Amino acid sequence: MAFESLTERMSQAFKNLTGQGKLTEKNMNDMLKEVRMSLLEADVNYTVVKDFIARVKEKALGEEVLSALNPGQMVVKIVHEEITELLGSEEVEVHYKKSGITTLMMVGLQGTGKTTASAKIANLMKKKQGRRPLLVACDVVRPAAIEQLQTLGESIDVEVFTLGVETKALETARQAMRYAQENGYDTVLFDTAGRLHIDEELMAELSDIKALIQPDEILLTVDAMTGQDIVNVAQSFHDQLSVTGLVLTKLDGDSRGGGILSVRSITHVPVMFVGLGEKIDDLDVFHPSRMADRILGMGDMLTLIEQAQEKMDMEASQKSAQRMMKGSFTLNDMLVQFQQIKKMGSLGGMMKLIPGFGKMASQIDDARAEGTMKKSEAILLSMTDYERENPACLKASRKNRIAKGSGTSVADVNRMLAQYEKMQQMMKMMGGMGGKMPNMAAMK
Ligand code: GDP
Repeated sequence: MAFESLTERMSQAFKNLTGQGKLTEKNMNDMLKEVRMSLLEADVNYTVVKDFIARVKEKALGEEVLSALNPGQMVVKIVHEEITELLGSEEVEVHYKKSGITTLMMVGLQGTGKTTASAKIANLMKKKQGRRPLLVACDVVRPAAIEQLQTLGESIDVEVFTLGVETKALETARQAMRYAQENGYDTVLFDTAGRLHIDEELMAELSDIKALIQPDEILLTVDAMTGQDIVNVAQSFHDQLSVTGLVLTKLDGDSRGGGILSVRSITHVPVMFVGLGEKIDDLDVFHPSRMADRILGMGDMLTLIEQAQEKMDMEASQKSAQRMMKGSFTLNDMLVQFQQIKKMGSLGGMMKLIPGFGKMASQIDDARAEGTMKKSEAILLSMTDYERENPACLKASRKNRIAKGSGTSVADVNRMLAQYEKMQQMMKMMGGMGGKMPNMAAMK
């Protein structure tokens, strides 16, 4: 996950400050020095850091922090406000036309995740905003870009308009507009070509497409992993095309955070979406204040709650929770629980969103935890419904069959059953206490 070391250093700087009973000008300066260093090490643009520190200092002194009741916390609040400011303060949404077709032009260098982002955004618009999007394959340069978009389109049930690689991108765009009008689409996303580097030919092609479709939004995808380079790329695109929004991709990767913290304040182009993984749902609308929470290690409960509401099947989960409390927890319920956890995404990723758990999350071996869970799920799926309801019937021959069916061993089946028994005992205990649903993740 992005900016791990930045978060750690920032938390450390604050800890030193808030741990001291009284705040002196000296320890505040020490803290600011530490914050400055951590930002520079995270590859944030030098001028951005300089201005940032100056603003924090000015505010901290202006608000008479030193004599306040809880000065350390006040400084943390100021840093939080200023980080939010760097990220853009306000959320910026796609501007939809009141009537007629809204057009979005996706631009970016090759490999930054433009094609993936086009499909992710179309999916979000369709699922969450009730739009009828059409994807248009105007990237006729990168081999296989069209097929990639078609595969993605199929997976989200969004039509992809293409005239193949033989037709010029401009002509495809022209005919796509007509097609969208004739077929009642209200939003059209154009996936345009990228290059490895910015060149005149690319910009000329993009300018022509822009002139033709007159897009409502021009979204530039930038790869968070490229650090400060993002700023130069974004500025060049912006100078030539007047970009209206940024899509920051691969924030799940090991980026230091410099790009995300510099790009907005230098280019003044707002970040609208962030890409958090390769899967189609791994895209978030960008919330500056929540991102500041994450950077400062304060967790992001709002996002976690939203994810839970969106992804979990609350009814199924509640039903199995009720059975648990009554002590009638079966293997079917266990299967439901595994499937719910899987829908929520990686365990480490989830824990990062909980305040104070950031560090622990980085120690979780996601791949191992997921592997164990997948194995257990395969075993459960190889059982019949009767067997899952009546685990006591599982004798040696049945276990053999299940192990074969799930590609595991009898020892794996026994391990899963032992885990089930452990869970059942806990459920009984908790049911007796009138407690809450236990956290299965903690029982691995
Ligand atoms: P394009 O050349 O700009 O169209 O790039 P693609 O959409 O083909 O993406 C390039 C690679 O980056 C693909 O392997 C994508 O799966 C991957 N990718 C795109 N967005 C993300 C993201 O947010 N996180 C991660 N980890 N990978 C991504």
